[in-house]
Amino acid sequence: LLTAALSRIQAARPLNAVVSLNDGAQAQAQAVQARVDRGEALPLAGVPILVKDNINVSGTATTCGSRILATYVSPYTATAAARLQQAGAVIVGKANMDEFAMGSSTESSAHGPALNPWDEARVSGGSSGGSAVAVAAGLTPVALGSDTGGSVRQPASFCGVYGLKPTYGRVSRSGLVAYASSLDQIGPFAHTAQDLALLMNVLAGHDPLDATSLHAPPAFATVTADDLRGLRVGVIQESLGGNTPGVDATLQATLDALRGAGAQVAEVSLPELKYAIAAYYLIAMPEASSNLARFDGMVYGARVSGSDVTEAMTLTRERGFGPEVQRRILIGTYALSSGYYDAYYSKAMKVRRLIADRFAQAFGQFDVLVTPTSPFPAFRRGEKTSDPLAMYAADVDTVAINLAGLPALSVPAGFETVDGVRLPVGIQFIAPALQDERLVRLAGGLE
Ligand code: GLN
Repeated sequence: LLTAALSRIQAARPLNAVVSLNDGAQAQAQAVQARVDRGEALPLAGVPILVKDNINVSGTATTCGSRILATYVSPYTATAAARLQQAGAVIVGKANMDEFAMGSSTESSAHGPALNPWDEARVSGGSSGGSAVAVAAGLTPVALGSDTGGSVRQPASFCGVYGLKPTYGRVSRSGLVAYASSLDQIGPFAHTAQDLALLMNVLAGHDPLDATSLHAPPAFATVTADDLRGLRVGVIQESLGGNTPGVDATLQATLDALRGAGAQVAEVSLPELKYAIAAYYLIAMPEASSNLARFDGMVYGARVSGSDVTEAMTLTRERGFGPEVQRRILIGTYALSSGYYDAYYSKAMKVRRLIADRFAQAFGQFDVLVTPTSPFPAFRRGEKTSDPLAMYAADVDTVAINLAGLPALSVPAGFETVDGVRLPVGIQFIAPALQDERLVRLAGGLE
């Protein structure tokens, strides 16, 4: 399996999905073989996996798609990655990503963009673009990404695979390089609901190394279409305007399939969602500005020397961080500064509470909520790189879920043909907190 994955990775190099290989993979595969020979039952025995390059794996490079970490080698392994290895999986390498997970296209990576396997002129989505491409192009059967505002779900929808953002606290963040700590979650990419269930049963569970980790043992399984009978599905009205025709058609076809299986489908309005993008960026950027203060050239990664320590730190950050990361540190610092804090950060936190409360209210009436994952399929490379606001607006359907800490799954549900090319379209299902299992069962039912 490892040899097959490595040759697929080699053949797919032009897609730029993989940024480094794990030198220890061969030895790990042999160690797994020895465990299997001893009679150990391992749920992921020998399964090759790529993980996003912001997840630490001991002895491997962890660059976070940034020049500032170009020479950084992880001294320890993230809990999520360690759990995979414990279950017999072999981490073969690291997947490309937007720099520090900031972006929606994987174009801000210092390694260059990951290309969409359906149309190489288009973006993979982001920020976990490399992981989505890896699964879509068959480099590894599953992969890990991280989702702060849509970074697992949106690239999954652009590449035509499943992408799950678990309930905040369900999967340990220990060893995930922080972007916005109150929003970040590690999540899996896969081709089938069965594979999602298999992975989540390994990944989820309490971890004493993450203070926000929840005590909620995983119980993932998949079911048949029969179980969709009576399921109450709420279609979020605020997501209905502004989609491309193919996205609208895919949503309608999905709703028809649900009705056909006996689900009850109705519309629901969550008016506060129109403030989600503004609130999200006013929370994510301040948290990022604080989290990224540690990259000052003193402890981690590259250092540019200067005549004194201040100059060394300034030059290191100036040359090490790309333009999008610098923009966010500046905006985040501004929003947190005295005099502006009340107008921006504090207000955004109040909107966050209102959004979470509105979701909770909707779940009084519905078992799951549904929206498209993105208003459009994969856009062209370069289309949004000079317009940060257009790039931020691409997250309109995904960010509110992170603000509320909820689980959400992007399901590959259809296609839209653009300029003669078939592009995948994803539909997003949202469940109440800790009901991640419901999403995977629903996906199994739709298959
Ligand atoms: N595109 C969003 C952002 O740039 C989400 C990124 C993510 O989920 N990591 O912040």
